[in-house]
Amino acid sequence: MKPVEKILLDLVTIPTVSAQSNEPLIAYAETFFATNVWALRRYPYRDSSGTLKVNLVARTRRPPRTRPALALVCHSDTVPYETSWREAVKPVLRRGRIYGRGSSDVKGFLACILASVSALDAASLAAPLEVVLTADEEIGRIGAKRLAAAKAVRAPRLIVGEPTGLTPVYAGKGYGLAEIVVRGREAHSAFPAAGRSAIFDAARVLTAIERAAKRLEHPRYPAFDPPHATINAGLIRGGTAKNIVPGECRITVEWRPVPGEPPDRALRLIEEELNRLRRRVPALEAEIQPLRLDPPFEPGEQTELRDLLSRLSGRTPSTVSFGAEAPHLRPSGGEAVIFGPGDMTTAHRTGEYVPVAQLRACVRHLQAAVAHFCQG
Ligand SMILES: [Zn+2]
Repeated sequence: MKPVEKILLDLVTIPTVSAQSNEPLIAYAETFFATNVWALRRYPYRDSSGTLKVNLVARTRRPPRTRPALALVCHSDTVPYETSWREAVKPVLRRGRIYGRGSSDVKGFLACILASVSALDAASLAAPLEVVLTADEEIGRIGAKRLAAAKAVRAPRLIVGEPTGLTPVYAGKGYGLAEIVVRGREAHSAFPAAGRSAIFDAARVLTAIERAAKRLEHPRYPAFDPPHATINAGLIRGGTAKNIVPGECRITVEWRPVPGEPPDRALRLIEEELNRLRRRVPALEAEIQPLRLDPPFEPGEQTELRDLLSRLSGRTPSTVSFGAEAPHLRPSGGEAVIFGPGDMTTAHRTGEYVPVAQLRACVRHLQAAVAHFCQG
């Protein structure tokens, strides 16, 4: 078995920012699946800019005509990195940690999968094992949605890799995204009455969004931190010059719905607040365009996988406030658990790292889970 840290160092040197093709990384991963043991199937597609993306499903050939018992799921793309961060794609092992883009989110988990499958004793399998590698998770879980539409994943239990510090995660918030376009009328800034400032109106819209965010704080869901859905106005751009009354301003707003409430509740509250604002300021022109509405990761009925991972890692099952591919890929009635080495608070940042001790522990836990479900 190649050491997991060596595999991770290799993986980080293959850059897979979502805008790039992930094919070289998939080709590297494929070398770990001995073809007499594994059947490999690529699901390639072109993304919106024409770049080749590949989803990969690997399934053990043995035993034949049996439903797989467990799937290990991992995305292959990463978020971008500052070009000044030299270790981003030249990873280093320093004081028990591996630094580099994706070390934690989520190539660390991918390295654990590859280390554990390369040591798999196929002859002992009582049920097949699946490995599912996806593209474009960081830009809308596009690869996972395509695999779900193709019904490509057959196992009823999924371990979905994300950096949870080896805590099994059984529920997560969803994700919504919309753009609000505020329209005004341009004029020379010396004569503001001749126009209407889209930026002043956008300020009114922002306070309306903030009121919607306040209303979302009830009811509360104590399993989550924070215990309610949240809204963020993360981007704003408007105006063309300092001496022009701005004619347009755009606000990008996202929300993270909690399981148990309608995923579009934030959207409906923002719309209500906008309607209230329009009644108060009839000249204001603002339009909201929903762009994404990913469902929350609802806790399922089954707990066998969650309980097993909890026993193995010694950590109590928990929830998270970020999204993942679990709600898209879990078959109805099945169980999905988000799990992996590293910490989401150090991911998506310069200086991202994963502790090597967690990588090694994760390999052991994956091998134990495979033994429990596929070799039992
Ligand atoms: Zn991730």
